[in-house]
Amino acid sequence: MLDCSLIIFDCDGVLVDTEPTPHALLAACVTEAGLPMSVQDSVNTFKGRDLNEIVAELESRLAQPLPGFLENFRSRMFEAFETNPPPPVPGALELLDHLDTAPAAPRRCVASNGPVKKMLASLTGAKMLHRFACDVTQGHMDGHAIFSAYDVGVWKPEPDLFLHAARTMGSEPDRCLVIEDSASGVVAARRAGMRVIALAGLTPAATLQDAGATRVIASLDELHALAR
Ligand SMILES: [Mg+2]
Repeated sequence: MLDCSLIIFDCDGVLVDTEPTPHALLAACVTEAGLPMSVQDSVNTFKGRDLNEIVAELESRLAQPLPGFLENFRSRMFEAFETNPPPPVPGALELLDHLDTAPAAPRRCVASNGPVKKMLASLTGAKMLHRFACDVTQGHMDGHAIFSAYDVGVWKPEPDLFLHAARTMGSEPDRCLVIEDSASGVVAARRAGMRVIALAGLTPAATLQDAGATRVIASLDELHALAR
């Protein structure tokens, strides 16, 4: 079994395969705003970053404000999630099944740079939300152990979100294991004093290693094997 008391999962790209849709939409919105951008450019430039920071950067590059950009992007994203729910990341359901049945399995939660509404929509679409149900009296969001950077007002790569999740769940940082797929998430976990297993995919293994990942895996099956 993984030697920790709490597993903190990133959401997009770790539990739910949400990344292609937002990046396709972001590339479309940025192109419409006057900066032609491909989906791969969007991944390379924006993956794992705070959306407010992204808009500020676009405004500075275009030398003009972009009123309504975020609202337009978000409403198109939620619409896309509803019409076409994002699938679970391969191996995620099997890993959660294992954690549900293993004796002395660590507790778990989700911590994302995205807003709660996006997490609820994507985890519901992937039929995974109920796997993070918890006692609402403990102060977790909406009866689920899910934490958003919007609630603390600080985004990865800062450590605050992970520290907030650990505190709320009652675990010391050195007993937490973070699962991430972005370099900014890996940096956030290390700054929080936590171990981090990084899932390579859209972000190459070498980048995750350089960011400080404790270990890099190519699929969640490898994590499942470690949890046995
Ligand atoms: Mg991610």
